[in-house]
Amino acid sequence: AKQRGKAGFVRYVDGLGEPVLAHMQLGGELRRALDNDELQVVYQPILRLEDQRVTGVEALVRWQHPTRGAIRPAEFIPAAEQTGLIVPLGRFVLREACRQAAAWSAEFGPDALPEAGVNVSARQLHDPDFVADVAAALADSGLPCERLVLEVTESAVLRGQQVSRTLFELDRMGIRLALDDFGTGESSLSLLRAFPATIVKLDKSFVDGIEIDDGQPAAADARRAVARAVIQLAHALGLATVAEGVESPEQAAVLRELGYTLGQGYHLAQPMTAEDVSRLLARQRLD
Ligand code: C2E
Ligand code: CA
Ligand code: CA
Ligand code: CA
Repeated sequence: AKQRGKAGFVRYVDGLGEPVLAHMQLGGELRRALDNDELQVVYQPILRLEDQRVTGVEALVRWQHPTRGAIRPAEFIPAAEQTGLIVPLGRFVLREACRQAAAWSAEFGPDALPEAGVNVSARQLHDPDFVADVAAALADSGLPCERLVLEVTESAVLRGQQVSRTLFELDRMGIRLALDDFGTGESSLSLLRAFPATIVKLDKSFVDGIEIDDGQPAAADARRAVARAVIQLAHALGLATVAEGVESPEQAAVLRELGYTLGQGYHLAQPMTAEDVSRLLARQRLD
């Protein structure tokens, strides 16, 4: 694999694959993107399955590259994590989402949009300034603590003492924590006891195919087994749930039958600009 040496020449480094080099190049561009306002935040509504009312949003970052066009987070978040740029990037998304959620609350009333979710990477949880950054974003925006949901994945949470302390501190501040992509990790169950989550987000992979009737009696239906187990566990532990990746009305119906009340997915609402969320909330106010 090639890598730029100290003097700027390209040398070959054992064990450093092409992805690392690609991450370093992308990292340089990302630094520039942060300075040049090329990053935007879009919002995907979270809806009540029963009546399709919006109860929250998840903030999702977008990169509008001047020559390459729109770049998806899956392509640059790993590079941002590897280079540490996820810290300023995450701070930008957090501040923007808090400011926007506070603006919605002022315009449509505090109950119009109870929750704003922001994704947080493991690297951010290791940053000693993270708790102070979150506190500052809340104070500067005026958003009440309980309106902010920080979404963390199981692998991020499993990073030891420091991360655990940070999560308990956020919980003590009244900020809500969601376990993202729930069910895809290796120790979901033990984590739920050890970690101050109040929300679990059922991963899309357990929603895929959930509507297919394979002729089994419901209780023996393997396609629904994980979704059913997760909702039972959530109820037993007093946690809220959100089903992710809901792509059809049939899936929404099965999830409702299983006891899920909240959903997120292309069938319910696509990620959209803040202006489009405002339009949705304005329409909802009339209902
Ligand atoms: P995630 O946190 O699981 O976010 C949900 C992803 O699923 C989003 O992709 C969303 O657009 C997509 N999605 C929503 N509904 C559907 C559906 O019905 N079908 C399908 N196929 N996909 C759906 P997106 O925006 O491309 O983000 C991908 C991942 O990048 C996110 O997954 C999250 O892990 C990460 N990410 C996005 N924004 C941020 C950020 O600001 N900070 C950090 N640390 N990570 C972020
Ligand atoms: Ca998420
Ligand atoms: Ca997720
Ligand atoms: Ca995911």
